[in-house]
Amino acid sequence: MFVAHRIRLDPNNVQATYLARAAGTARFAYNWALAEWKRQYEACKLDPALPKPNEAALRRQLNAIKGEMFPWMLEVTKNAPQMAILQLGYAFKNFFEGRARYPTCRRKGRDDRFTLTNDQFRVQGKRIRIPKLGWLRMCESLRFEGKKIVSASIARSANRWYASIVVDTNTLFLPPTENQGAVGVDLGVTTLATLSTGETFIGPKASRSLQSRVKRLARSLSRKVKGSHNYAKAKTKLARLLARIADIRRDGLHKLTTYITGQFHTIGIEDLNVKGMLGNHCLARSIADMAFGELRRQLEYKAARRGGQVVVVDRWYPSSKTCSCCGHRLDEMGLQVRQWRCSDCGALHDRDVNAAINLRNMAVSSTVTACRGEGAGLAREAQGETVPGEAGIQQQS
Ligand SMILES: [Zn+2]
Repeated sequence: MFVAHRIRLDPNNVQATYLARAAGTARFAYNWALAEWKRQYEACKLDPALPKPNEAALRRQLNAIKGEMFPWMLEVTKNAPQMAILQLGYAFKNFFEGRARYPTCRRKGRDDRFTLTNDQFRVQGKRIRIPKLGWLRMCESLRFEGKKIVSASIARSANRWYASIVVDTNTLFLPPTENQGAVGVDLGVTTLATLSTGETFIGPKASRSLQSRVKRLARSLSRKVKGSHNYAKAKTKLARLLARIADIRRDGLHKLTTYITGQFHTIGIEDLNVKGMLGNHCLARSIADMAFGELRRQLEYKAARRGGQVVVVDRWYPSSKTCSCCGHRLDEMGLQVRQWRCSDCGALHDRDVNAAINLRNMAVSSTVTACRGEGAGLAREAQGETVPGEAGIQQQS
């Protein structure tokens, strides 16, 4: 399994200049290869005898001419232009296979990054060695030690440099979950998550409290003359604040997902149509805040590391409108309804807890049908104790 550790770098002025230059070289090579790709493609449309463009040929082509035409490229690591063209190849592959749009130019300020292959850098304690630069200080040491390092991406974000170091761990390096049971997680708007055990997580609402500062800085930026020094300073200030908000949000999500995956083996979540919901403006900010997609991603990889599993329940499954006691389904339920009583069995439900219990039951039953071995026994066990509401109280105490 590949894991990445993103570490902030602490370059001095000379080193920061080198990093910016390497990123600039990578950007130039990427854009050069993109233009060349288009040109060669047009050419081979007119004359089918010509070869179709590909990234390996483009790399060779650039290598042949860079000494003469772009001698400044030799001042930074050779990985910068090479890996950029390799990545362009991936971008085209993703485009051809329908996963992404047609590749676009990299832009200064937005795409300041370059990648190093594992033979081109070394990590030792709190420092990293980069070709033609030497040792560079990092703010912390690599978390995953003694395993194979795959690559490193050096990138600028909010005027700070980070190294994202990818490590191949090959093993499940976390102990399995303590409680082997199942849980349903209902992702909400007012609360970040409600578990089928009845626990709720409010989630960090950083952007709410810092929103006024964002507004003030954005206004101050808009009054500066574009391209001026003050504009650049104001832009960095705003970017730092936004980065801080993102950090707070990510931290909250990590704490939540670590907790859930540490406690439960089988985790049922809903496949939310985030794009569709973002179209609804009154919900938009809260949902963006809560970052559903990121939550799901974290749950999936953290569960995999402990041998657990995440079951994604169909988007159209009415988890809120179904009674978790008797299975009675309501026709209609407004977003503002927090509590409701089932007309069939009379059970009083908290909207979110009820939805979470339904998700857990769905996750458990889908593991029964998916695997009839060990998992089935586990799922049956979990289902046996499913007197909804009661299981929640047990696990809370
Ligand atoms: Zn009922």
